Amino acid sequence: MRAVTRPFPRRASARGRRTRGLRGIAVVLMLGLAVVASPAFAAAPAASSATAGDGRRPPPLVYVATRALDDPRAALALAQGAIAAAQAGGDRDTEFWLRLGRVEVFVQTDHDAAAVDELGLARRALRPGDTRQARWLEAFERLAGPLPQDVDAFRRAQSALAAAAQADGDAALACTVSAVDAWIHQELDVTDEAWQALEASERCGAQLGDRGQRAYALGAMALLAGRIGVPTPAEVYFQRALDALEGLPARYQRAWLLDDFGWALIDAGQLERASASFDEALALGSAVADASIVARAHEGLAEVALLQRDAARTLRHAREALRHGAAAGLGARAVTAQTQVVEALALHVDGPTRAAELDQEIQRLRALADADPLPHHRVLAARSAARGLQALGRHAEAYAELERFVELSRRAERERRDRDARRLQAVYETARREAENAALRRAADEARHELAVRGERQRALLLLLAALLAAVAAGAWLARRAFVRRRRLADLALRDELTGLPNRRALVAFGEEQFALAERLQLPLAVALVDLDHFKQINDAHGHACGDRVLKAFAAAGSRVLRAPDRLGRWGGEEWLLVMPGAHASDLGAVFLRLRESLAAEMAGVLPAGRRVTFSMGVAERGPGVGSFDALLAEADRQLYRAKGQGRDAVAGATPALPAAA
Ligand code: GH3
Ligand code: MG
Ligand code: MG
Repeated sequence: MRAVTRPFPRRASARGRRTRGLRGIAVVLMLGLAVVASPAFAAAPAASSATAGDGRRPPPLVYVATRALDDPRAALALAQGAIAAAQAGGDRDTEFWLRLGRVEVFVQTDHDAAAVDELGLARRALRPGDTRQARWLEAFERLAGPLPQDVDAFRRAQSALAAAAQADGDAALACTVSAVDAWIHQELDVTDEAWQALEASERCGAQLGDRGQRAYALGAMALLAGRIGVPTPAEVYFQRALDALEGLPARYQRAWLLDDFGWALIDAGQLERASASFDEALALGSAVADASIVARAHEGLAEVALLQRDAARTLRHAREALRHGAAAGLGARAVTAQTQVVEALALHVDGPTRAAELDQEIQRLRALADADPLPHHRVLAARSAARGLQALGRHAEAYAELERFVELSRRAERERRDRDARRLQAVYETARREAENAALRRAADEARHELAVRGERQRALLLLLAALLAAVAAGAWLARRAFVRRRRLADLALRDELTGLPNRRALVAFGEEQFALAERLQLPLAVALVDLDHFKQINDAHGHACGDRVLKAFAAAGSRVLRAPDRLGRWGGEEWLLVMPGAHASDLGAVFLRLRESLAAEMAGVLPAGRRVTFSMGVAERGPGVGSFDALLAEADRQLYRAKGQGRDAVAGATPALPAAA
């Protein structure tokens, strides 16, 4: 079987045509969207809206695409007319979408240069600042442009565009991106990714309720199914695709599907059904006057005839394929059809005329193969040439050609393996990069976490420090309070509560200290005991509180008249002790008078007018016979007793003694 002996899993001779076919199908995936979006096929293109609100394709694009499903040439002409009308009306928006529609059709019909030109015109019609138009233009640029060199970059750009489309709610654009994905991956022969993209295309087409979209995704999947080992046979996908198109005016796309279906049926050994499929494709292709489909269908019919060893029929169809292929300007088509011519002639070399003809066709095949960039075309050409030469009995040349075939096969296989290896390498690199990125992200997360923890720790430390400071401050405050309290207690212990003057204990301590000092330095030291006269009567007459006020007045009076080193304190009750370092007893007479005067002034307002308070004072001085502070006090007490005895309001012991005041 011819198909089985070919060196590629799927019919190798179809690969060149597939390039075209796949692209057509990918475009049709996009065109398919239009069918749902524009139920009224006869409607003129409406001015489109720049919003993606309904998630559907803009109406002018739909207008062109729906017609292209059925007849691309008619669609192009209609679009051109509509563009002229839009330009006349100054409607750049409509012009832009119509031009994108034409780009699609040009790509679909393999007019790459025309597609690029139209894309340039669309770019010029683009409204500045219209992000939706810019995004659609980007998708079409990738469709019509050269195959991507950097597949990773292509995928990233596609993902970004799909994400933007999703964010805008532009479902039709997202679906178009899937279709472009599918096409590019098929063109790159990256079958796994192509399959995934096709599944996505079929899904989004179904979600948009688009039968055409589903049909074309299924058609492309049928082409891939056998190659990637999907358990469902290709035939099932084709049948589903054709069913989905049922009832739609889609002659052109049905023709493509039927032709692909025919080749699948050849691979499955169902030659009669294959023939019927090609016949139908031929009828539809002729109806829309598409030379490319017609050439392709003839090639399929030639292949069936060749497998049935019908040389005449093979020749007829192969030559028709060559004729229509040339008319369509499809050089690539020529090699495979020419192999069919050579092999058909090789079936029956009866007579010198046929031999000469075969020789001529072999030369033509070699020339075509040499000019063909596709390696597998050269492989097929070498094998067919070997068969032809064999039939001509030129065994040495046939052998050489076979060797060439084997070598070319190996090289093609190597290249395929290299490409697979590169693709796997790219997949591996992508996975590795993603893993690295994930690791970096993890590291960044951990660093952030570490920072957060450290920050937390610092905050905790600061809190602790603050708490410690607060504790220290509180401790200091408490300590100070305790100190103040202790000092106040100490103060209380040494101070008289009522008058604030030193109490008896403080006076004794001070006095003893001064006495010792005076003894050591042989300095004078005098003391005076003072007692208020008839104080009991004041209490009795004016109350105890009034008595207290008198005591305070005396304390104030005493504090005012004394020198800095002197100390006056409350000895007890209404008795006072005055300690005067550096003073002689004789100085105390003047002190007595100053104190009396000061008290009189201090008493103003304390007692009713005319009521005086007097005091008596006993004075003693350190000197011979007075060897201790106690002795000094005892002497002062004695003198006080004398002063009282002298009638009070007097001082005793101060020499010269003062007379009792009047
Ligand atoms: P003399 O002239 O002989 O000293 O007569 P006197 O009344 O001052 O003497 P006495 O010792 O009989 O009385 C002292 C009085 O002082 C008795 C007491 O009630 C009063 N006194 C003692 N301490 C206080 C005090 O803190 N406040 C008041 N209001 N009275 C006091
Ligand atoms: Mg007294
Ligand atoms: Mg008294």
